[in-house]
Order: sequence, then C-alpha cells, then structure tokens
Amino acid sequence: MQDIVIIGGSFAGLTAAMQLGRARRKVSVLDTGLNRNRYAEAAHNIFAQDGTPPGDILARARAQVGSYPSVDLVAGQAVQVEGEPDGFVVRTAAGELIEARRLILSYGIVDEFPAIPGFAESWGKTVIHCPFCHGYEVAGKPWGLLYSSPMSLHGPALYANWTDDITLILDGQEIIEEERRKLEKRGVHIENGRLAAIRHDSGILDGVVLEDGRELALTALYAHPRNRPSADLHVQLGLETKETPTGIMVATGELQATSRPGIFAAGDLATGMHSITFANYAGSMAAMGALNSLLD
Ligand SMILES: Cc1cc2nc3c(=O)[nH]c(=O)nc-3n(C[C@H](O)[C@H](O)[C@H](O)COP(=O)(O)OP(=O)(O)OC[C@H]3O[C@@H](n4cnc5c(N)ncnc54)[C@H](O)[C@@H]3O)c2cc1C
Repeated sequence: MQDIVIIGGSFAGLTAAMQLGRARRKVSVLDTGLNRNRYAEAAHNIFAQDGTPPGDILARARAQVGSYPSVDLVAGQAVQVEGEPDGFVVRTAAGELIEARRLILSYGIVDEFPAIPGFAESWGKTVIHCPFCHGYEVAGKPWGLLYSSPMSLHGPALYANWTDDITLILDGQEIIEEERRKLEKRGVHIENGRLAAIRHDSGILDGVVLEDGRELALTALYAHPRNRPSADLHVQLGLETKETPTGIMVATGELQATSRPGIFAAGDLATGMHSITFANYAGSMAAMGALNSLLD
C-alpha cells in the first residue's frame, strides 16, 4: 500500500511528489504527459526559469523527483478510483491497481477550442490567455480580446499595462451601454461582429477576419475558451465543485483538502487562477495536507 497516490504529474503533482519524497513517504505519481501549456514554446513568469520550454522544466522535475527512492513515477492514466482513507484504490488504463492511504488529484484541465479556423493552430503562440505569461513579448502591439464572459470586460484595464491598442471582439454577445461607454472612454475599440477566422502563419497571428469579411490587423488575440477537468475522477469520488467563469474546479479548503477526507486537490483543477507558480504552491500545500492527515 502506497502512502499517497498523486494523479497528474505536472507542475502541481510533481511539486507535491518532491515534498513527499523528501519526507520519505511511499508515493506513486500517475501521469499521461499532457501538461496544459505544452502548446507554448516557452513558459514565463516563473522563479529562476523564465523563458524555459515547459517540457524542459517538467523533464528536469521528473528526473529530480524520480531520484527519491520512495517515489514511483508511472506513465499511465488513472481511469477509476474508489475507497476511503487508508484504503483508496486507483485503477489505471493498463488494468493495474494501486492502493493508497491518501489521494492527491492534480490532473489539470483541458481547454475546449472554439471551431474558429486558426484558433487551435495559434493557441499558446499568439492566441493566448494570460498577459503575465505571454504579454511581454507582444507589448506595445495591437491586441484583440475575444469576449467569453462578463470577466472579459476586466481585461482591457489590465492589458493597458502592456498596450494601448486593444480591440474587444464581442463575438455576437451584448454588453450593457454603461460598460461600453467605460471601455470606449479607455480607448478600447469595440467590434460587435462574430470572429470568423484567425489569419496566421504556423500559429503566428497576422490578423483576424470578422463574419462580415472585414479584417483586423492584430499581433495577439486574448481568449478564454471553456475548459473542463482532464478526467472525471472527482465525479467518481463525489467531490464538491465550484463554478469558474470558464468551467468548474474542485472545491478545496485548508491545505487543499477536498470535501472528502483523505483526498486533496491542487493545480488548475482546483483554482480559477491558472499559473505554474500557483500550481507549485497548491501542490506543496496538498502535500502538507496529506502528510498532516497521515499523522492523525
Ligand atoms: C497555452 C498556455 C500557456 C501557458 N503559459 C504559462 C506560462 O508561461 N507561465 C505560467 O505560469 N503558466 C502558464 N500557463 C498555465 C499553466 O500551464 C497551468 O497553470 C499549469 O500547467 C497547471 O499545472 P497543473 O499541474 O495543475 O496541470 P497540468 O500542467 O495541465 O498537468 C496535468 C497533468 O495531469 C495529467 N493527467 C490528466 N488526466 C490524467 C489521468 N486521468 N491520469 C494520469 N494523469 C493525468 C496530464 O497529462 C498532465 O500531465 C499556460 C497555459 C496555457 C493553456
């Protein structure tokens, strides 16, 4: 029986595994290798690793975490989970059963790309979701923001740190007159029409085409597509969830504890604030939560 099984071995899961390995706990980390930012050439806004390809950071982390003898890194998918503290059972797609006293869920989320030609190809390159991650490189250039929820209306005030040339594409949605006036006062251009296509060369944006055929020259397009958890294990376990503007997340309390004893969640799966640093932090807290609960 393992002390802890971690499902999802990326920024959150490997941070938890490092902490638990150093505490000499028996840990299995299951991972399918599909970290959410794998589309980006470089990861930014990370302590001591700014500009490093995400795959390189994870490869280094795997090598370091895997060197702890009590940590077992398993390339595999968890498909089923059940049980109670001191008796959880995780089934992998290969049919292996792993028993554990505690669980950490860190399997992340999947972005659901809209069916706009060029969107998927440009995602993580010039169609981006976070200015702290990828805004500096395109600062001072014309940016677009694709409306996805009322949260989008807060974007232009934040983006003003990077550029004063911002076009909000409402994509057929309505906004109230007061919001429209506020944005226009800030100098934001507003396009009511729907986005029909993204013009790009190997993901490098050149502009966008609206449904009426007009083209806008843009260097970057900010977008916040709907997302969903990467697996349904939290549903199998009956965990409480919370709404976010773009999907759902697993609800957690102190030390990343979920609504069920012995189960902790970390990373994008358990927050609306998506970044590597937050995932590292939550992974570390989940490890502490799991460790503390093993001492009880
Ligand atoms: C395009 C893009 C660029 C980004 N750039 C940056 C950036 O520059 N800086 C920054 O701070 N943040 C960036 N982010 C955000 C960052 O990627 C996430 O916050 C971070 O990846 C969250 O880490 P995580 O460990 O929670 O999830 P993930 O990194 O998504 O990892 C989840 C892991 O779980 C695995 N998994 C899923 N289901 C299962 C299962 N059933 N069994 C086993 N394993 C499973 C997956 O394969 C994956 O390896 C970016 C996001 C995107 C979309």
